[in-house]
Amino acid sequence: MSTSTKFAALPTNPDVIVIGAGSAGMGAARRLIKGGKSVIVIEAANRIGGRAWTQSDSFGVPVDMGASWVSSANKNPFTKIARKAGFHLVEHTHAETDLFRLDGSRADARDHKEYQENFRAMQKSMNKAGKKGHDVPASEVTPNDLPWMGAIQSWLGPMDYGVDFDQISTLDDWHGESDQPSYFVREGLGAVVATRAEGLPIKLNTTVTHIDWSGDGVRIETNNGTLSAKACVITVSTGVLAAGNIRFTPELPAAKMEAVHNLPMGLLVKVPMMFDGARLGLGENNWVTYQVPNEIPAKACYFIAWPCGHDYLFGNIGGRLGWDLSREKSDVTVDFAMEELVKLVGSDARKHLIKGFRTDWANDQNTLGAYAAVKPGHHGVRKTLEAPLADRLFFAGEAMGGAYPALVSGAYLSGKRTARKVCKVI
Ligand SMILES: Cc1cc2nc3c(=O)[nH]c(=O)nc-3n(C[C@H](O)[C@H](O)[C@H](O)COP(=O)(O)OP(=O)(O)OC[C@H]3O[C@@H](n4cnc5c(N)ncnc54)[C@H](O)[C@@H]3O)c2cc1C
Repeated sequence: MSTSTKFAALPTNPDVIVIGAGSAGMGAARRLIKGGKSVIVIEAANRIGGRAWTQSDSFGVPVDMGASWVSSANKNPFTKIARKAGFHLVEHTHAETDLFRLDGSRADARDHKEYQENFRAMQKSMNKAGKKGHDVPASEVTPNDLPWMGAIQSWLGPMDYGVDFDQISTLDDWHGESDQPSYFVREGLGAVVATRAEGLPIKLNTTVTHIDWSGDGVRIETNNGTLSAKACVITVSTGVLAAGNIRFTPELPAAKMEAVHNLPMGLLVKVPMMFDGARLGLGENNWVTYQVPNEIPAKACYFIAWPCGHDYLFGNIGGRLGWDLSREKSDVTVDFAMEELVKLVGSDARKHLIKGFRTDWANDQNTLGAYAAVKPGHHGVRKTLEAPLADRLFFAGEAMGGAYPALVSGAYLSGKRTARKVCKVI
């Protein structure tokens, strides 16, 4: 496992400029170089990885601020990459659930059975709608009288898609693949993704502000000067594109911008909380879930306890509640997460808390959200977004993640796929 990444020297006249050194950008750059193209990767932040980011500064142990699950692991390129580089994959497919009733009491075996049955019923009704080609909000097709419905729509909506249940497209959901097994990485999934930067010509701290594609190639203006190339691969989030952080001359066609707006960013806020070694009765790597009223948006913060045996747990808050809390100071989110936890494990937990914080993807100008979710009724926009323009502007990223949208794997594969298209035309 390498700890310090060495970048290659930047070529003077690159064939292609890749915008963004996240999973998609690094996937694209590697494939372009393999195809004999000279490349510069431009990254606004002072680090690589984008939304795949492991840091150890807060707790002295690795915390994944963004992506943490290696999901659909048998088809996920990062499984092999992680194994080859000596990372430790921690099985999470059969993780248990610490389940609590509405009154905070522990669920018994009958509750667990009912919870699992409710989960299957909800997924079945979503699948049924998607299979029939119905592109409607998930909340319109699922039963609404199940006892664990509030908890399940919270997991499937805010905590998975980053949007509430009424904002999930059943057809888009149907087209995504979700296979087992899944893993955590003890050293962090962000650290695995970062290995993809080794030997790439990456320029950090450089923000693209304007792309002029009116001539033969592209002219890319940044806060660090202007660069030219035959083509560029744009991997910034739909949040960044929708905010107009990058100006285009000529402007992007209306259909492209419509696709951007129909793929708005969802939000998942993580709330890592470090404890003094006390386990609070929660099992390592367990899901921590509790019954909530069936309201949209549901007011819930569900936890993963002691991932990989670390002494922290992390709360997950998504959708509208996540956006609302992100407008407040970080402490407000930590207090909310702690209050929810105390309802389950008792107020003694407060004595064992060392510190906590929340991730801030909502306010990060290089992301402006967690990942994109197709608006109900707009299945197909991922393809529109991905379509190249004039053989000079190419698009890649998690929003165009094919069978694995919103995931690091989908982003990486999208970068590679787009790079192959570039190699065919320049
Ligand atoms: C909280 C959270 C949890 C997640 N959990 C999982 C998970 O468990 N498993 C999983 O597989 N995925 C997960 N994801 C999703 C995954 O992290 C993303 O889908 C993936 O990392 C996106 O990669 P990308 O290359 O498309 O975009 P990014 O990683 O966002 O890369 C784009 C890059 O472009 C840069 N950039 C932006 N604007 C400019 C500009 N103007 N000029 C230059 N550079 C710019 C950004 O700084 C960024 O580095 C999670 C994400 C979040 C936020």
